[in-house]
Amino acid sequence: MTQADVIVIGAGAAGLMCASTAAQRGRRVLLLEGAEKVGKKILISGGGRCNFTNIQAGPDNYISANPHFCKSAFQRYTAWDFIDLIERHEIAYHEKTLGQLFCDDRSRLVVDLLLDECRQGGVEIRTGCQIQSVTKQDQFELSDATASYSASSLMIASGGLSIPKMGASSFGHDIARQFGLGIVPCRPGLVPLTFTAADLERYDGLSGVSTPVRLRCGKQSFREAMLFTHKGLSGPAILQISSYWQPGESITIDLLPDLELVSEVATWRRPRPAAELKTMLATHLPARLVQRLLELHLPSKPIRQLNERDIQLLTRLFHEWEVKPGGTEGYRKAEVTIGGVESAELSSKTFESSKVPGLYFIGEVVDVTGWLGGYNFQWAWSSGHCAGLFV
Ligand SMILES: Cc1cc2nc3c(=O)[nH]c(=O)nc-3n(C[C@H](O)[C@H](O)[C@H](O)COP(=O)(O)OP(=O)(O)OC[C@H]3O[C@@H](n4cnc5c(N)ncnc54)[C@H](O)[C@@H]3O)c2cc1C
Repeated sequence: MTQADVIVIGAGAAGLMCASTAAQRGRRVLLLEGAEKVGKKILISGGGRCNFTNIQAGPDNYISANPHFCKSAFQRYTAWDFIDLIERHEIAYHEKTLGQLFCDDRSRLVVDLLLDECRQGGVEIRTGCQIQSVTKQDQFELSDATASYSASSLMIASGGLSIPKMGASSFGHDIARQFGLGIVPCRPGLVPLTFTAADLERYDGLSGVSTPVRLRCGKQSFREAMLFTHKGLSGPAILQISSYWQPGESITIDLLPDLELVSEVATWRRPRPAAELKTMLATHLPARLVQRLLELHLPSKPIRQLNERDIQLLTRLFHEWEVKPGGTEGYRKAEVTIGGVESAELSSKTFESSKVPGLYFIGEVVDVTGWLGGYNFQWAWSSGHCAGLFV
């Protein structure tokens, strides 16, 4: 039986951050990882350049049944605290867009930074240790296929359900249930949306077409790029709204967010009355998309022939295009899991369970999910650091 003060399960972003913080306070920390290497999601993140934080990160960029829960951690460990750590490790970075910070070089540097911090604290890291059972007597006792471990504090940093082929599982949620904690129902977030069978046929051949849009679902809206895929819609705008979309709801898409179509028609009518509608639209949108939408709804004609009804139809079609997705591409493609361990069961200061002293949950396993753009790593850093100060 290997003994430690603190056992952290999961050497992802949250687990590595928490382990190094606790160990640098003098705690004897054992970090157990099921995979053969640590930080696998960090390595593949941000297209290999790790979008490690967002300078605009704040509670409004997160989805949770209890929107206040994350506030304390974000106040105590901000994006600037992590940037400071990045700078101390001399990792070059840049802002890509919308406050998103990426490494200039490889994501590997962020994993190396975290490993270095763990080394400084003397964290013992063991990989290939897939924990199968947890019990609590005086201490927590854990076992994997070959060994047993015990500690008075147990930190669950085992992540969510997204990307099962990378080892994601319901382990953390199962442990929470075992100890009587609630789970907010889970669903895939930051995930491509699929068309219904009818829309798949309607929009067949548009795969690869991309355009900036403003889209909304309920009260939430985003303005970013959208991409047609061979299954439906993706791109940053769709990934963002997917976290707010519920089955059966429609998404309203403004395909011309920088243009007032009515005035554009008026502008063209005078000097170029014989110009085709599709020509005018194709100066602002991909020609393939224009052609398909017009084929489906309003045959192209010279601008001078457009009547009031046509203009109303065009406005609806291009400024308020309504799509009712058939579903999502699921956890296989989702960047995050929405839902998870109920935050009402945890201290927002220490992340310890109120029901089970010594049991903590951090990172994606908790019901706090960020937008696309570095927000999810910031949650992992903030929750991991704050829990590491108390465990
Ligand atoms: C393709 C992709 C790209 C992404 N890009 C970004 C990005 O650029 N910026 C951003 O902010 N977010 C990004 N995310 C989201 C981000 O990766 C996650 O929110 C973040 O990794 C969550 O950190 P975590 O430590 O809570 O969980 P994870 O990183 O999932 O780590 C959990 C760890 O626990 C281990 N584990 C699970 N069960 C057990 C067990 N029973 N025993 C032992 N170990 C176990 C797992 O193997 C894993 O290593 C991306 C996600 C994906 C899928």
